[in-house]
Amino acid sequence: MSGTPPLSLAERYAAVKAGIPAHVTLVAVSKTRSVDEIRALYDLGHRAFGENYPQELCEKRPQLPADIEWHFIGHLQTNKVKQIAPFVHLVHGVDSTRLLDELDRRALQNNRTIQVLLQVHIAREDTKHGFTPAEAETLLKGAWAWPHLQPKGLMGMASNTTDQHLVGSEFEGLTELYTRLRGNDDRLDILSMGMSGDAPLAIAKGSTMVRIGTAIFGDRVRIRQA
Ligand SMILES: *Cc1c(COP(=O)(O)O)cnc(C)c1O
Repeated sequence: MSGTPPLSLAERYAAVKAGIPAHVTLVAVSKTRSVDEIRALYDLGHRAFGENYPQELCEKRPQLPADIEWHFIGHLQTNKVKQIAPFVHLVHGVDSTRLLDELDRRALQNNRTIQVLLQVHIAREDTKHGFTPAEAETLLKGAWAWPHLQPKGLMGMASNTTDQHLVGSEFEGLTELYTRLRGNDDRLDILSMGMSGDAPLAIAKGSTMVRIGTAIFGDRVRIRQA
């Protein structure tokens, strides 16, 4: 790579989009990115952005166009739900019934329905949040107890490893669960899996929504804690 001029945002965005089939939605992960960087991608026509930290999202949102679709992709603490409930388009990482309860309460308070994905724990690592596949299945097959939440599907994060075989089998497992649940539940049409490092594999295994930051915006330099 030495001597190669760095690609522009437009070039990186075009390259990422070229790898994504029409039935897969691209969420541009804009955590730690400035308002100017987000606006630059907006100006290239992109509308779906994903953020991890409620406070950062709420600081940036008023400075950006109102037709941006904001996805919340990080681990959401119940005491932060009220900050994003008025506007969030889709919450990807719902990982407890307590969080479902709080999201439902805040959705009602804001007189709206919030779309959610249940996060399923598929990685070997203990650090990733999520329901077990059996818990997710029970929640979606039973009577849905949250009238102001619309379940749209599942989200998962594979192990952070170079072992493509392991990552592929984790994605496959999630796709199997999604396909089975979807068989008699037409509410479900989103399977969110795949990030910069593993999106091609996730798409090959059945993803319908990828969350990509680094491959579009470049390396993240600022690290923020939730
Ligand atoms: C940061 C993040 C991403 C994007 O990661 P990149 O490697 O920058 O593409 C995707 N999903 C989640 C949940 C994240 O926290």
